[in-house]
Amino acid sequence: MRIDVRGAQLYDPAIGLDRTADLLVEDGVIAGIGPGLPHGDETVDADGLLLMPGFIDIHVHLRDPGETHKEDLQTGTQAALFGGFTDVCAMPNTKPPVDDALVLGDILRRAAGLPVKVHQLAAITRGQEGEQLAEMATLQELGAIGFSDDGRGVRSSNVMRLSLQYARGLGAVIATHAEDPELSRGGIVHEGPVSYRIGLPGQPRSAETAMVARDLELLRETGGRLHICHISCRETVELVRRAKAEGLQVTCEVTPHHLLLTDEDVPALGALGKMNPPLRTAQDRAALREGLSDGTIDAIATDHAPHSPSEKARGIMHAPFGVTGLEAAVPAVYGALVQAGELSLRRFVDAFTDAPRRVYGLRAPRIAAGEEARLTFFDPCCSWQLSADDLRSRSKNSAFLGRAMSGRPFGILTDGRFHASHE
Ligand SMILES: [Zn+2]
Repeated sequence: MRIDVRGAQLYDPAIGLDRTADLLVEDGVIAGIGPGLPHGDETVDADGLLLMPGFIDIHVHLRDPGETHKEDLQTGTQAALFGGFTDVCAMPNTKPPVDDALVLGDILRRAAGLPVKVHQLAAITRGQEGEQLAEMATLQELGAIGFSDDGRGVRSSNVMRLSLQYARGLGAVIATHAEDPELSRGGIVHEGPVSYRIGLPGQPRSAETAMVARDLELLRETGGRLHICHISCRETVELVRRAKAEGLQVTCEVTPHHLLLTDEDVPALGALGKMNPPLRTAQDRAALREGLSDGTIDAIATDHAPHSPSEKARGIMHAPFGVTGLEAAVPAVYGALVQAGELSLRRFVDAFTDAPRRVYGLRAPRIAAGEEARLTFFDPCCSWQLSADDLRSRSKNSAFLGRAMSGRPFGILTDGRFHASHE
């Protein structure tokens, strides 16, 4: 099977590639780059498109097994394809959670062969209950790429310390949902002037920052590797900046909604503005953008959290936390930050390709002859508006519905085949 791609702007900044050329893929491998290439069995007209190493989202909830009325492996990866991702990393808070070999093996078996590759994290603790460590060595051997109790924080400092020590021996990453449940308890939105005005219980910033400070202190003692999920506070950016300067092996990620929205948007968004951690202030958002630009924040990850329409219709007090993110992430961030000149194209691509893969020790695809073809096509000129009909996820709870987008994912090339993102 040969596919020729015509006229794309090939952009792989990690190897200094930035040129308009044709590309030939043969049996899933890049066979040639340049003019004068032969035609394949299929031609992709990529005139005016950016062609980049495959984008990865390292934080998604696919709800499979156990809550497939919200999402499953099929619909979740279709949402990823629509959003321009070739790879996703699924969090283990399914029902049952991914804390044993049977659940992990079942997911990996059912995900094999899908156009978007599913990498799976496993739980840190049995049942994600925060008490006893899961069989981490076995789970890693069977393919778990890292460990997380995401969905909740690891309350016990001792369990967190043991998990870092144990993961260090395995060379594995602990990915933490940094939240002190006693500080966040009952909080729906960020605690501040907006929560007082609209009369909803708030989550103080210390619910995140105190946990991040604790985990960094533990990491300093144990060594090993810590990844902090979905950071939201300016103090967290500063804590990570200092920890990196000190040489600790820490990485972190930020979501598109924390980069683009604030708590001022919550009254208009209602339940679509309810996520955990909550949307913070304009100063927090500015610090997150700065941290992303200077590399303190490694990766952009969506925390794609599907919930059914009836669940989100319960109103902001009673709806579950979380918004979907796979379909809108790339164009939303591209339009709001790259086109606006706030974030370089180079850092944008790095934050969706190489930097997130480094977090979990995954090899990044390269656009070079002899490399596996794992590619994201993006149309930087297309203007469109995100509507619920566009969403491929089984759930429609995006905070970006109705938003004007500039730039649109066009397709992906994986396993030797081109897959269009949309008709
Ligand atoms: Zn989380």
